[in-house]
Amino acid sequence: MGNLLIKNPARIVSPRPGVIRGRGFGDLVIRINESILIRDGIIQDIAPLSQLSRVAARDGIPELDVTGKAVIPGFVDCHSHLVFSGNRAEEFALRASGVDYQTIATRGGGISATVQATRAASAAELKDIGHHYLARALRQGITTMEVKSGYGLDPAAEMKMLEVINDLNAEQPIDLVPTFMGAHAVPQGIARDIYLQEIKAMIPKAARLARFCDVFCEQGYFSPQESGEILAEARIHGLLPRLHANQFHSIGCIEKALDVRAVSVDHLEVLDAREIRLLAGSNTACVVLPGVSLFLDIPYAPIRWMIDSGCIVAIATDFNPGSNMSLSMQLMMSLACMQMQVRLDEALCCATQNGAHVLRLAETGCIEAGWQADLLVLDTADYRDMLYFYGENHVRTVIKKGRIV
Ligand SMILES: [Zn+2]
Repeated sequence: MGNLLIKNPARIVSPRPGVIRGRGFGDLVIRINESILIRDGIIQDIAPLSQLSRVAARDGIPELDVTGKAVIPGFVDCHSHLVFSGNRAEEFALRASGVDYQTIATRGGGISATVQATRAASAAELKDIGHHYLARALRQGITTMEVKSGYGLDPAAEMKMLEVINDLNAEQPIDLVPTFMGAHAVPQGIARDIYLQEIKAMIPKAARLARFCDVFCEQGYFSPQESGEILAEARIHGLLPRLHANQFHSIGCIEKALDVRAVSVDHLEVLDAREIRLLAGSNTACVVLPGVSLFLDIPYAPIRWMIDSGCIVAIATDFNPGSNMSLSMQLMMSLACMQMQVRLDEALCCATQNGAHVLRLAETGCIEAGWQADLLVLDTADYRDMLYFYGENHVRTVIKKGRIV
Protein backbone atom coordinates (compact mmCIF):
# COMPACT_ATOMS: atom_id res chain seq x y z
CA MET A 1 0.00 0.00 0.00
CA GLY A 2 1.64 3.23 -1.14
CA ASN A 3 1.48 6.94 -0.49
CA LEU A 4 1.89 9.19 -3.51
CA LEU A 5 1.06 12.64 -4.81
CA ILE A 6 0.40 12.59 -8.57
CA LYS A 7 1.14 16.16 -9.66
CA ASN A 8 -0.18 18.19 -12.58
CA PRO A 9 -1.82 15.66 -14.91
CA ALA A 10 -3.12 17.24 -18.13
CA ARG A 11 -6.45 15.53 -17.44
CA ILE A 12 -7.83 12.96 -15.02
CA VAL A 13 -10.38 10.91 -16.97
CA SER A 14 -12.66 8.39 -15.28
CA PRO A 15 -16.10 6.82 -15.42
CA ARG A 16 -18.43 7.70 -12.58
CA PRO A 17 -18.54 5.18 -9.73
CA GLY A 18 -20.99 2.28 -9.87
CA VAL A 19 -22.29 -0.01 -12.59
CA ILE A 20 -22.78 1.73 -15.96
CA ARG A 21 -25.70 1.08 -18.32
CA GLY A 22 -28.11 3.06 -20.51
CA ARG A 23 -27.56 6.82 -20.41
CA GLY A 24 -24.74 6.39 -17.88
CA PHE A 25 -22.51 5.07 -20.69
CA GLY A 26 -19.76 7.44 -21.66
CA ASP A 27 -20.62 9.93 -18.91
CA LEU A 28 -16.98 10.49 -17.98
CA VAL A 29 -15.65 12.79 -15.29
CA ILE A 30 -12.83 14.87 -16.79
CA ARG A 31 -10.82 16.92 -14.31
CA ILE A 32 -8.37 19.62 -15.33
CA ASN A 33 -5.93 21.44 -13.02
CA GLU A 34 -6.31 18.87 -10.26
CA SER A 35 -3.85 16.44 -8.70
CA ILE A 36 -4.34 13.14 -6.83
CA LEU A 37 -3.26 12.40 -3.25
CA ILE A 38 -2.97 8.71 -2.36
CA ARG A 39 -2.59 7.36 1.16
CA ASP A 40 -2.21 3.69 2.08
CA GLY A 41 -3.16 2.64 -1.45
CA ILE A 42 -6.44 4.58 -1.41
CA ILE A 43 -7.24 7.83 -3.24
CA GLN A 44 -7.59 10.31 -0.41
CA ASP A 45 -8.27 13.50 -2.32
CA ILE A 46 -8.49 14.95 -5.83
CA ALA A 47 -7.97 18.72 -5.71
CA PRO A 48 -5.82 21.63 -6.95
CA LEU A 49 -2.12 21.03 -6.34
CA SER A 50 -1.70 24.00 -3.97
CA GLN A 51 -4.14 22.31 -1.59
CA LEU A 52 -2.55 18.86 -1.75
CA SER A 53 1.15 19.73 -1.82
CA ARG A 54 1.01 21.24 1.69
CA VAL A 55 -0.36 17.97 3.10
CA ALA A 56 2.12 15.90 1.08
CA ALA A 57 5.09 18.00 2.26
CA ARG A 58 3.94 17.84 5.89
CA ASP A 59 3.59 14.05 5.81
CA GLY A 60 6.63 13.30 3.63
CA ILE A 61 4.54 11.78 0.81
CA PRO A 62 6.58 11.20 -2.39
CA GLU A 63 5.60 13.05 -5.55
CA LEU A 64 5.23 11.96 -9.16
CA ASP A 65 5.17 14.78 -11.68
CA VAL A 66 3.02 13.84 -14.70
CA THR A 67 2.82 17.23 -16.37
CA GLY A 68 1.21 17.02 -19.78
CA LYS A 69 -0.02 13.42 -19.41
CA ALA A 70 -3.49 11.97 -18.94
CA VAL A 71 -4.34 9.75 -15.96
CA ILE A 72 -7.02 7.05 -16.27
CA PRO A 73 -8.08 4.09 -14.08
CA GLY A 74 -6.16 0.79 -14.38
CA PHE A 75 -7.77 -1.70 -16.76
CA VAL A 76 -9.92 -4.47 -15.28
CA ASP A 77 -9.69 -7.53 -17.54
CA CYS A 78 -12.68 -9.53 -16.34
CA HIS A 79 -12.21 -12.59 -18.61
CA SER A 80 -8.94 -14.46 -19.17
CA HIS A 81 -7.42 -17.95 -19.27
CA LEU A 82 -3.94 -16.73 -18.37
CA VAL A 83 -2.59 -19.87 -16.66
CA PHE A 84 -1.66 -22.59 -19.17
CA SER A 85 1.35 -24.40 -20.54
CA GLY A 86 2.44 -25.07 -24.10
CA ASN A 87 2.64 -22.95 -27.18
CA ARG A 88 0.30 -23.25 -30.15
CA ALA A 89 2.24 -21.05 -32.58
CA GLU A 90 2.56 -24.07 -34.89
CA GLU A 91 -1.23 -24.33 -35.00
CA PHE A 92 -1.48 -20.59 -35.66
CA ALA A 93 0.96 -20.99 -38.56
CA LEU A 94 -1.06 -23.91 -39.99
CA ARG A 95 -4.27 -21.91 -39.76
CA ALA A 96 -2.61 -18.97 -41.51
CA SER A 97 -1.59 -21.28 -44.34
CA GLY A 98 -5.18 -22.37 -44.82
CA VAL A 99 -5.50 -25.57 -42.74
CA ASP A 100 -8.94 -25.72 -41.09
CA TYR A 101 -9.61 -26.08 -37.38
CA GLN A 102 -11.03 -29.60 -37.67
CA THR A 103 -7.86 -30.87 -39.39
CA ILE A 104 -5.72 -29.20 -36.72
CA ALA A 105 -7.79 -30.86 -33.98
CA THR A 106 -7.41 -34.31 -35.57
CA ARG A 107 -3.62 -33.73 -35.67
CA GLY A 108 -3.69 -33.28 -31.87
CA GLY A 109 -4.00 -29.48 -31.79
CA GLY A 110 -6.74 -27.36 -30.26
CA ILE A 111 -7.70 -27.30 -26.59
CA SER A 112 -6.54 -30.89 -26.00
CA ALA A 113 -2.96 -29.85 -26.79
CA THR A 114 -3.12 -27.20 -24.06
CA VAL A 115 -4.77 -29.65 -21.63
CA GLN A 116 -1.97 -32.18 -22.15
CA ALA A 117 0.75 -29.58 -21.66
CA THR A 118 -0.94 -28.07 -18.60
CA ARG A 119 -1.46 -31.45 -16.94
CA ALA A 120 2.20 -32.32 -17.55
CA ALA A 121 3.52 -29.02 -16.13
CA SER A 122 4.39 -28.76 -12.44
CA ALA A 123 2.82 -25.99 -10.33
CA ALA A 124 6.20 -24.24 -10.28
CA GLU A 125 6.43 -24.33 -14.08
CA LEU A 126 2.89 -22.99 -14.45
CA LYS A 127 3.72 -20.20 -12.02
CA ASP A 128 6.81 -19.20 -14.00
CA ILE A 129 4.76 -19.00 -17.19
CA GLY A 130 2.02 -17.09 -15.35
CA HIS A 131 4.52 -14.54 -14.02
CA HIS A 132 5.82 -14.00 -17.55
CA TYR A 133 2.35 -13.18 -18.94
CA LEU A 134 1.31 -11.13 -15.90
CA ALA A 135 4.38 -8.91 -16.22
CA ARG A 136 3.33 -8.22 -19.83
CA ALA A 137 -0.26 -7.55 -18.75
CA LEU A 138 0.89 -5.09 -16.08
CA ARG A 139 3.10 -3.15 -18.49
CA GLN A 140 0.06 -2.69 -20.70
CA GLY A 141 -2.05 -1.32 -17.87
CA ILE A 142 -4.03 -4.29 -16.54
CA THR A 143 -4.22 -3.85 -12.76
CA THR A 144 -6.98 -6.39 -12.02
CA MET A 145 -7.60 -9.63 -13.86
CA GLU A 146 -9.87 -12.63 -13.69
CA VAL A 147 -8.15 -15.95 -14.44
CA LYS A 148 -9.96 -19.24 -15.11
CA SER A 149 -8.96 -22.84 -14.61
CA GLY A 150 -10.15 -25.20 -17.36
CA TYR A 151 -7.00 -26.62 -18.94
CA GLY A 152 -6.70 -29.35 -16.32
CA LEU A 153 -10.05 -31.06 -16.79
CA ASP A 154 -9.38 -33.59 -14.05
CA PRO A 155 -9.55 -33.01 -10.28
CA ALA A 156 -5.80 -32.86 -9.62
CA ALA A 157 -4.93 -30.60 -12.55
CA GLU A 158 -7.91 -28.27 -12.02
CA MET A 159 -6.98 -27.75 -8.35
CA LYS A 160 -3.33 -27.27 -9.36
CA MET A 161 -4.42 -24.46 -11.69
CA LEU A 162 -6.54 -22.77 -9.02
CA GLU A 163 -3.73 -23.00 -6.47
CA VAL A 164 -1.30 -21.49 -9.00
CA ILE A 165 -3.72 -18.59 -9.62
CA ASN A 166 -3.95 -17.97 -5.86
CA ASP A 167 -0.15 -18.11 -5.48
CA LEU A 168 0.34 -15.73 -8.40
CA ASN A 169 -2.13 -13.34 -6.81
CA ALA A 170 0.07 -13.15 -3.72
CA GLU A 171 3.37 -12.87 -5.62
CA GLN A 172 2.90 -9.94 -8.03
CA PRO A 173 1.00 -6.62 -8.15
CA ILE A 174 -2.05 -7.43 -10.33
CA ASP A 175 -5.12 -8.42 -8.28
CA LEU A 176 -6.23 -11.82 -9.61
CA VAL A 177 -9.76 -13.17 -9.26
CA PRO A 178 -9.87 -16.97 -9.73
CA THR A 179 -12.68 -18.77 -11.57
CA PHE A 180 -13.29 -22.53 -11.62
CA MET A 181 -13.95 -23.71 -15.16
CA GLY A 182 -13.82 -27.49 -15.03
CA ALA A 183 -16.65 -27.32 -17.56
CA HIS A 184 -14.45 -25.89 -20.34
CA ALA A 185 -14.73 -29.11 -22.40
CA VAL A 186 -15.24 -32.84 -21.89
CA PRO A 187 -11.69 -34.22 -21.91
CA GLN A 188 -10.68 -37.13 -24.14
CA GLY A 189 -10.83 -40.62 -22.64
CA ILE A 190 -13.74 -40.12 -20.23
CA ALA A 191 -17.47 -40.63 -20.75
CA ARG A 192 -19.51 -37.46 -20.76
CA ASP A 193 -21.85 -38.39 -17.88
CA ILE A 194 -18.89 -39.53 -15.74
CA TYR A 195 -17.10 -36.21 -16.34
CA LEU A 196 -20.25 -34.25 -15.42
CA GLN A 197 -20.30 -36.10 -12.08
CA GLU A 198 -16.59 -35.37 -11.67
CA ILE A 199 -17.11 -31.62 -12.19
CA LYS A 200 -19.83 -31.53 -9.53
CA ALA A 201 -17.56 -33.45 -7.17
CA MET A 202 -14.76 -30.88 -7.72
CA ILE A 203 -16.98 -27.91 -6.78
CA PRO A 204 -16.70 -28.00 -2.95
CA LYS A 205 -12.90 -27.93 -3.10
CA ALA A 206 -12.85 -25.40 -5.98
CA ALA A 207 -15.10 -23.12 -3.90
CA ARG A 208 -12.30 -22.69 -1.38
CA LEU A 209 -9.94 -21.50 -4.14
CA ALA A 210 -12.19 -19.52 -6.50
CA ARG A 211 -14.84 -16.79 -6.55
CA PHE A 212 -16.75 -17.73 -9.73
CA CYS A 213 -17.75 -20.85 -11.65
CA ASP A 214 -17.87 -20.65 -15.46
CA VAL A 215 -19.24 -23.11 -18.06
CA PHE A 216 -18.74 -23.25 -21.85
CA CYS A 217 -22.40 -23.47 -22.91
CA GLU A 218 -22.19 -24.39 -26.61
CA GLN A 219 -22.96 -27.14 -29.12
CA GLY A 220 -20.43 -29.93 -28.60
CA TYR A 221 -19.48 -28.63 -25.12
CA PHE A 222 -22.15 -28.28 -22.39
CA SER A 223 -25.88 -27.95 -23.02
CA PRO A 224 -27.97 -25.28 -21.26
CA GLN A 225 -29.44 -28.06 -19.09
CA GLU A 226 -25.99 -29.36 -18.05
CA SER A 227 -24.68 -25.81 -17.56
CA GLY A 228 -27.61 -25.03 -15.28
CA GLU A 229 -27.01 -28.12 -13.16
CA ILE A 230 -23.30 -27.34 -12.73
CA LEU A 231 -23.93 -23.67 -11.90
CA ALA A 232 -26.73 -24.49 -9.43
CA GLU A 233 -24.34 -26.81 -7.60
CA ALA A 234 -21.64 -24.11 -7.70
CA ARG A 235 -23.99 -21.55 -6.18
CA ILE A 236 -24.79 -23.87 -3.27
CA HIS A 237 -21.08 -23.78 -2.45
CA GLY A 238 -20.80 -20.00 -2.81
CA LEU A 239 -19.35 -19.74 -6.32
CA LEU A 240 -21.06 -17.09 -8.47
CA PRO A 241 -22.16 -18.32 -11.91
CA ARG A 242 -20.85 -17.10 -15.29
CA LEU A 243 -21.28 -18.58 -18.78
CA HIS A 244 -19.39 -18.63 -22.06
CA ALA A 245 -22.52 -18.20 -24.18
CA ASN A 246 -23.56 -17.70 -27.82
CA GLN A 247 -20.06 -17.80 -29.32
CA PHE A 248 -21.06 -19.93 -32.31
CA HIS A 249 -24.73 -20.85 -31.79
CA SER A 250 -27.80 -19.64 -29.95
CA ILE A 251 -28.99 -22.76 -28.09
CA GLY A 252 -30.78 -21.34 -25.04
CA CYS A 253 -27.75 -20.32 -22.94
CA ILE A 254 -29.08 -16.79 -22.34
CA GLU A 255 -32.35 -18.07 -20.87
CA LYS A 256 -30.37 -20.49 -18.69
CA ALA A 257 -28.04 -17.70 -17.55
CA LEU A 258 -31.00 -15.59 -16.41
CA ASP A 259 -32.50 -18.68 -14.74
CA VAL A 260 -29.41 -19.15 -12.58
CA ARG A 261 -28.99 -15.36 -12.13
CA ALA A 262 -25.55 -15.47 -13.71
CA VAL A 263 -23.20 -12.57 -13.01
CA SER A 264 -22.29 -12.43 -16.70
CA VAL A 265 -22.62 -14.04 -20.10
CA ASP A 266 -19.42 -13.80 -22.11
CA HIS A 267 -18.75 -13.91 -25.90
CA LEU A 268 -22.23 -13.25 -27.44
CA GLU A 269 -21.00 -13.15 -31.03
CA VAL A 270 -24.32 -14.75 -32.10
CA LEU A 271 -27.14 -12.88 -30.38
CA ASP A 272 -30.65 -11.95 -31.55
CA ALA A 273 -33.02 -9.11 -30.66
CA ARG A 274 -35.05 -11.22 -28.25
CA GLU A 275 -31.93 -12.29 -26.33
CA ILE A 276 -30.69 -8.69 -26.14
CA ARG A 277 -34.07 -7.61 -24.72
CA LEU A 278 -33.85 -10.36 -22.09
CA LEU A 279 -30.34 -9.27 -21.07
CA ALA A 280 -31.27 -5.59 -21.02
CA GLY A 281 -34.06 -6.40 -18.57
CA SER A 282 -31.71 -8.30 -16.26
CA ASN A 283 -28.70 -7.68 -14.02
CA THR A 284 -26.60 -10.21 -15.92
CA ALA A 285 -23.69 -8.36 -17.55
CA CYS A 286 -22.53 -8.92 -21.15
CA VAL A 287 -18.77 -9.42 -21.51
CA VAL A 288 -17.62 -8.79 -25.07
CA LEU A 289 -14.30 -10.15 -26.39
CA PRO A 290 -13.28 -8.30 -29.58
CA GLY A 291 -9.86 -9.97 -29.78
CA VAL A 292 -11.45 -13.40 -30.33
CA SER A 293 -13.39 -12.13 -33.34
CA LEU A 294 -10.20 -10.65 -34.81
CA PHE A 295 -8.08 -13.71 -34.07
CA LEU A 296 -10.59 -16.33 -35.30
CA ASP A 297 -12.15 -14.15 -38.00
CA ILE A 298 -15.67 -14.67 -36.66
CA PRO A 299 -18.41 -11.99 -36.37
CA TYR A 300 -18.09 -9.31 -33.70
CA ALA A 301 -20.70 -9.30 -30.90
CA PRO A 302 -23.47 -6.68 -31.46
CA ILE A 303 -22.20 -4.48 -28.62
CA ARG A 304 -23.66 -1.23 -30.05
CA TRP A 305 -27.09 -2.78 -29.91
CA MET A 306 -26.49 -4.07 -26.36
CA ILE A 307 -25.43 -0.64 -25.09
CA ASP A 308 -28.36 1.10 -26.80
CA SER A 309 -30.79 -1.47 -25.36
CA GLY A 310 -29.61 -0.87 -21.79
CA CYS A 311 -27.42 -3.92 -21.15
CA ILE A 312 -24.51 -3.81 -18.70
CA VAL A 313 -21.49 -4.27 -20.99
CA ALA A 314 -17.80 -4.90 -20.30
CA ILE A 315 -14.85 -5.54 -22.65
CA ALA A 316 -12.14 -8.11 -21.85
CA THR A 317 -9.22 -9.87 -23.56
CA ASP A 318 -10.16 -13.58 -23.19
CA PHE A 319 -6.37 -14.08 -23.26
CA ASN A 320 -5.86 -17.79 -24.11
CA PRO A 321 -3.64 -19.87 -26.41
CA GLY A 322 -6.37 -20.91 -28.88
CA SER A 323 -8.43 -17.84 -29.65
CA ASN A 324 -6.67 -14.69 -28.45
CA MET A 325 -2.98 -14.35 -27.61
CA SER A 326 -3.16 -10.66 -26.76
CA LEU A 327 -3.00 -8.99 -23.35
CA SER A 328 -3.71 -5.55 -24.75
CA MET A 329 -6.88 -4.03 -23.31
CA GLN A 330 -5.94 -0.98 -25.38
CA LEU A 331 -6.19 -3.01 -28.58
CA MET A 332 -9.50 -4.58 -27.43
CA MET A 333 -10.93 -1.09 -26.89
CA SER A 334 -9.61 0.15 -30.25
CA LEU A 335 -11.24 -2.84 -31.96
CA ALA A 336 -14.53 -2.03 -30.22
CA CYS A 337 -14.28 1.53 -31.53
CA MET A 338 -13.15 0.60 -35.06
CA GLN A 339 -15.20 -2.55 -35.70
CA MET A 340 -18.16 -2.43 -33.33
CA GLN A 341 -19.34 1.20 -33.41
CA VAL A 342 -18.46 1.81 -29.76
CA ARG A 343 -17.67 5.40 -28.73
CA LEU A 344 -14.29 6.04 -27.12
CA ASP A 345 -15.79 7.16 -23.82
CA GLU A 346 -17.99 4.05 -23.76
CA ALA A 347 -14.99 1.79 -24.43
CA LEU A 348 -13.22 3.24 -21.39
CA CYS A 349 -16.26 2.51 -19.19
CA CYS A 350 -16.36 -1.09 -20.50
CA ALA A 351 -12.67 -1.68 -19.78
CA THR A 352 -12.58 -0.28 -16.25
CA GLN A 353 -15.65 0.30 -14.09
CA ASN A 354 -17.94 -2.32 -15.67
CA GLY A 355 -15.18 -4.95 -15.59
CA ALA A 356 -14.83 -4.33 -11.86
CA HIS A 357 -18.61 -4.64 -11.50
CA VAL A 358 -18.53 -8.06 -13.22
CA LEU A 359 -15.85 -9.18 -10.77
CA ARG A 360 -17.91 -7.81 -7.86
CA LEU A 361 -15.07 -5.54 -6.77
CA ALA A 362 -16.26 -2.43 -4.99
CA GLU A 363 -14.04 0.68 -5.03
CA THR A 364 -12.12 -0.51 -8.11
CA GLY A 365 -12.27 0.76 -11.70
CA CYS A 366 -12.67 4.51 -11.34
CA ILE A 367 -10.85 7.53 -9.93
CA GLU A 368 -12.74 8.84 -6.90
CA ALA A 369 -11.82 9.68 -3.32
CA GLY A 370 -12.08 6.53 -1.22
CA TRP A 371 -11.35 4.20 -4.14
CA GLN A 372 -8.37 1.93 -4.63
CA ALA A 373 -5.51 3.85 -6.26
CA ASP A 374 -5.05 1.73 -9.42
CA LEU A 375 -4.07 4.31 -12.03
CA LEU A 376 -2.36 4.62 -15.39
CA VAL A 377 -0.30 7.55 -16.58
CA LEU A 378 -0.52 7.65 -20.37
CA ASP A 379 2.11 8.95 -22.82
CA THR A 380 -0.35 11.58 -24.08
CA ALA A 381 -2.48 14.42 -22.72
CA ASP A 382 -5.62 13.07 -24.40
CA TYR A 383 -6.80 9.53 -23.54
CA ARG A 384 -8.38 9.28 -27.00
CA ASP A 385 -4.89 9.06 -28.57
CA MET A 386 -4.52 5.69 -26.82
CA LEU A 387 -7.34 4.24 -28.98
CA TYR A 388 -6.73 6.26 -32.14
CA PHE A 389 -3.01 5.49 -32.40
CA TYR A 390 -3.81 1.80 -32.04
CA GLY A 391 -1.72 -1.32 -31.62
CA GLU A 392 0.79 0.53 -29.41
CA ASN A 393 1.22 0.53 -25.65
CA HIS A 394 0.42 4.06 -24.44
CA VAL A 395 0.85 3.29 -20.72
CA ARG A 396 3.88 5.13 -19.36
CA THR A 397 3.51 4.41 -15.64
CA VAL A 398 1.33 1.92 -13.76
CA ILE A 399 0.30 2.72 -10.19
CA LYS A 400 -1.17 -0.17 -8.21
CA LYS A 401 -2.59 0.52 -4.74
CA GLY A 402 -0.62 3.77 -4.67
CA ARG A 403 2.74 2.20 -5.65
CA ILE A 404 4.57 2.70 -8.91
CA VAL A 405 5.02 -0.85 -10.22
ZN1 LIG B 1 -12.97 -17.57 -22.44
